[in-house]
Amino acid sequence: MRLCRFDDNRLGVVRGPAEAPVVHDVTAILEALPSFRYPLPDHDPLVAALPSLRPQIEALADGAPAMPLAGLRLLPPVASPRKIVAAPVNYRLHHDEALADQAIHHGTNILPIDKAGLFLKAPSSLIGPSDPVVIRFPEARNDHEIELVAVIGRPANRVSRDQALAHVAGYSIGLDMTVRGTEERSMRKSCDSYTVLGPWMVTADEIADPSALDLHLLVNGETRQKTSTAHLLRDVATLIEKASAFYTLMPGDLLFTGTPEGVAPVTSGDVMTARISGIGQMEITVC
Ligand code: MN
Repeated sequence: MRLCRFDDNRLGVVRGPAEAPVVHDVTAILEALPSFRYPLPDHDPLVAALPSLRPQIEALADGAPAMPLAGLRLLPPVASPRKIVAAPVNYRLHHDEALADQAIHHGTNILPIDKAGLFLKAPSSLIGPSDPVVIRFPEARNDHEIELVAVIGRPANRVSRDQALAHVAGYSIGLDMTVRGTEERSMRKSCDSYTVLGPWMVTADEIADPSALDLHLLVNGETRQKTSTAHLLRDVATLIEKASAFYTLMPGDLLFTGTPEGVAPVTSGDVMTARISGIGQMEITVC
């Protein structure tokens, strides 16, 4: 199943061919979620309820008219992630290009992922694909980083690698936008709009092997990044094991798995096209 959020916080099931996807409005299912009073829960309520609500969501979609996806304003498919966890250098060739270009990295230590661990991006930086990435520091270099994103489906605390994928609700395409500079990653990668998630979430049952997906990022139609998640140094399951050794991952938490080689700057007016096989494609403008 492919779930999207669109327009004024509506929920949709995406079906149909890749070249002309359609959306079935299933917003009515949100009435089945618990209503919360302050304080708000420590997880995303829809993602947490997905296993139990899924049959009703499918039934609602069957009975809802098909709307063309084109023309809808796509929001991030997960509304309320409480944590956005991200892997630093996690592809060998990106590690090599980072080492070779220390000027870009301003002497930032390029540590292997097993030494550096993971970092966090501010949830306030999250946007959907229909909103632009707004360059915050035009005088600096602002890079695109396409990444496979795993959406956590149920609490994961000290989960072993062989159990990890059972905690994944689904997958999306992510852009981990980055200001190059001397500041901590958590600051440079948390500017408003510097975390893009979309175009929808594909539930985990449709992704047989998250280590066999093709990633492709183009800027203004020119290829910048193109590889397979087969080249991840630490795969999704290992990243979940590593993260959950330190903290409990909760439903709706996002795990950005790292970007491959080919990171390069974008400036106002650029259009980024991000594709991952088995998930889909999205276009994001930069302004
Ligand atoms: Mn990244």
